[in-house]
Amino acid sequence: MADVKRWLPLFLVSTAAACSVLGGRSFSLAPNADRNILLVTIDTLRADALGAYGGRAATPNLDAVAAHGARFTFAHAHAVVTLVSHASILTGRYPYEHGIRDNTGYRLRPNEATAATLLKARGFATGAFVGGFPLDRRFGLAPGFDVYDDAMTKTGAPGEPAERERPADAVVRSALDWIGAQHGAWFAWVHVYDPHEPYQPPPEFAARFAGDPYLGEVSWTDAALGPLFDRLRSLSRPTLVVVTGDHGESLGEHGERTHSLFAYEPTLRVPLIVAEIAKDTKEAKGRVIDTPVRHVDILPTLLQSAGAPAAGSGTSLIDTIDAGRGEERPSYFEAMSAAVTRGWAPLRGVLVGRDKYIDLPIVELYDLAADPKEATNVAAARADRTRVMVETLKQFNVAPPARAQTETADTIERLRSLGYIGGGSATVKEKYTDADDPKRLVAIVQMLARANDALRAGRAQEAAETYREIIRTRPDTEDAYRKLALIDWRAGRPADAIATLELALRNGVTQSEVRIRLGQYLSEAGQPAKAIELLKDTAGSDPDALNTLGNAYTTAGRLGDATAIFRRLIGQDPANALAYENLGMTQLQGRDLKAAESSLRHAIQLDPSLAGAYTALGVVLAGTGRTGEAIDAWKKALTLDPSDQNATDNLTRVSR
Ligand SMILES: [Zn+2]
Repeated sequence: MADVKRWLPLFLVSTAAACSVLGGRSFSLAPNADRNILLVTIDTLRADALGAYGGRAATPNLDAVAAHGARFTFAHAHAVVTLVSHASILTGRYPYEHGIRDNTGYRLRPNEATAATLLKARGFATGAFVGGFPLDRRFGLAPGFDVYDDAMTKTGAPGEPAERERPADAVVRSALDWIGAQHGAWFAWVHVYDPHEPYQPPPEFAARFAGDPYLGEVSWTDAALGPLFDRLRSLSRPTLVVVTGDHGESLGEHGERTHSLFAYEPTLRVPLIVAEIAKDTKEAKGRVIDTPVRHVDILPTLLQSAGAPAAGSGTSLIDTIDAGRGEERPSYFEAMSAAVTRGWAPLRGVLVGRDKYIDLPIVELYDLAADPKEATNVAAARADRTRVMVETLKQFNVAPPARAQTETADTIERLRSLGYIGGGSATVKEKYTDADDPKRLVAIVQMLARANDALRAGRAQEAAETYREIIRTRPDTEDAYRKLALIDWRAGRPADAIATLELALRNGVTQSEVRIRLGQYLSEAGQPAKAIELLKDTAGSDPDALNTLGNAYTTAGRLGDATAIFRRLIGQDPANALAYENLGMTQLQGRDLKAAESSLRHAIQLDPSLAGAYTALGVVLAGTGRTGEAIDAWKKALTLDPSDQNATDNLTRVSR
C-alpha cells in the first residue's frame, strides 16, 4: 500500500527518540502458555488524555506500563459506544460480524467465541470485573468467565433513575481478591468506567483538575489502577498486560459533547498499550509504534501470546511489536446508535493509513497526517482517493443493523441515566438524504441535551418549549414527544399529554415506547378501551406492552383478559416481577385475596424494590385482619417511594 512508504519516516523518528532515552533490550513478546493475561479497558478514554500520549492527565501508572512495553500511537476502535466496542475487543470481530450495533437492543449470541471462552478452553482461570451498566451480564459477554462480577455499588439518589456504576478502586479491589485466590495461569478483564460522564472525580482530583474534571477522572482512574499493576510485580508468573479505551470523548469538538453520534478522532481513536509485568525481571525499554492497529487485533494478540490458535478478524500484533512496525491494514468503523434509535443515516467508514473516509449522505474524507483535527473535508478535492476509499469500505461486506430488540423499561432507564439515547427501535430506511445526515442533525442532539438539563433542573416550561422546537425541526424525534407528554402528565394535563403522543404516531414515529406510553396514559386517564384498541394487536411479546395492555384490561374490568395477559407474560419471562405485581392487583380487584397475596409476595421476592407491590400487599393483609402487618407493608412502600399516595392514604385511614 502506498501509505506504508509515506509513513515510514515518522516511524523512524519516533523509534529513534525512544531508543535515545532507554538502553537495554527492546520490548518483545514471545508466546508463553504459562503467563497470566490482564486486559484493562478504560471507558471513554481519549488517547490524547494520557501522559504517555502527550496528554495533560496525571497518569504515572499507565505511563510506567507504556514505558516498558509497546505503545501504539494510532489505534482505533470500530465503534463509539461501550457494548459494541467491548464486543469487538473480546471477539476480535467487527460490529457487523458479532451483530451488536448499539448499547441497547442487542445481545452477544451465546455461541460467539470470545477471549474468555477461548482462553478458558486452554486451561486459564477467567474473571471479569466491570464497572458500568452497559456491560451488565444481561448483554451476553459473560459466557466463558468463571466469575463475571458486574455488581454496581453506585445507584444514584432515591427517586432518580439508577445511575449504575462502580468506582474504579472498587472494581480493582474485586479483581485483586480474585487474582489473589488463583493458583494457575489466569485471564482477567478489568473494566473501569469513571471517565464516562458525569465527570465527578474524588475531591483531591477535582481540586487538581478544577478546570477540566474529565482529566480529573482520567487521573483518578490511573491512581485506582496502580495497586493492580503493583500486584503483578509480586506474582510468580509473568503477566501480559493490554490496556485500551473502548472509545474516546468528544468534549465539544465537532459539536458533540460526549460520544455515540459521530466517529471523529476524539471518540474513535483510543490508546493501546501492550506490556509484560514480571517479578525480578529487568524491564525492557519501551517501543512506540506508529503502524495503524485496531481493536480486532487484540484478541489474536492475546491468543498468540498464549500459544493458542488464531481467532477473530484481526491480526496478532506480536510480530509488529517485535519489529517495531508492521503491515498497515485498513480498519472499519461505525456509529449506529442514531440510526437504530432515531432513524438517522447510519455512519460507516474506513481508515487506510492516515486517510479516513466517512460514508454518510454528505461524505467526508480527511487526511489525518495533515489535518489531525478533521477540520477540512477533502472528499470533493480528492475525488480519486475518495473512490478508492469507497471501494475499500465495500470490501468489508458490512451488513445493515438488524432491527434492535425492545429493552425492558428498567434497562432503558438505566442507560438513559448514563446519557445514552437508547431504548426505542427506529425503522432502518432504504434511502437516506442529506437531511438525515447526523452532521445536519447535531443541533437536535444539542437541543435535546439542553431540554433534558432544564427538565432535570425543574425548569419544565423551558424544557417543554425546546421539545416543541425539536418536534417542529425534526418530527421523528421520538423522545421529544415522550418528554413533552411527561411534562403535561405530571402537571395534571392528561389530555395534552395524550394529544402529544397521538401526534407522534401521526408523524410516523415507529418506536414502540411511544405507543406503550400512550396506552398507559389512556388507561390511567379513564379510557382503557382506547388503550386496549391501541395495544392488543401490536404488543407482541414486548414485556412493557403486555404489562400495559394487562393493566388496561384490569382498568376496564375485564379481569379474565388481564389475568390471561399477565400469565402469558410470566410464561415467557418467569422473572418478570412487574407481571406478578400486576397479576396480584388484578386478583385483588377480583377479591381473590389468597391468590393476590401469593402473587404479590412473589413479586416482592423477585424485586424487593417494588413499592406498589407492598402497598397492594398491605391492602390484602388489612382485608384479612392482619392490620399490624399491613401497616408495616405500607411503611415499607413509603420508604421505597415516598410519593406513593395510596400507601399514605391507607396509613392515615388505619391510624384514625
Ligand atoms: Zn464506553
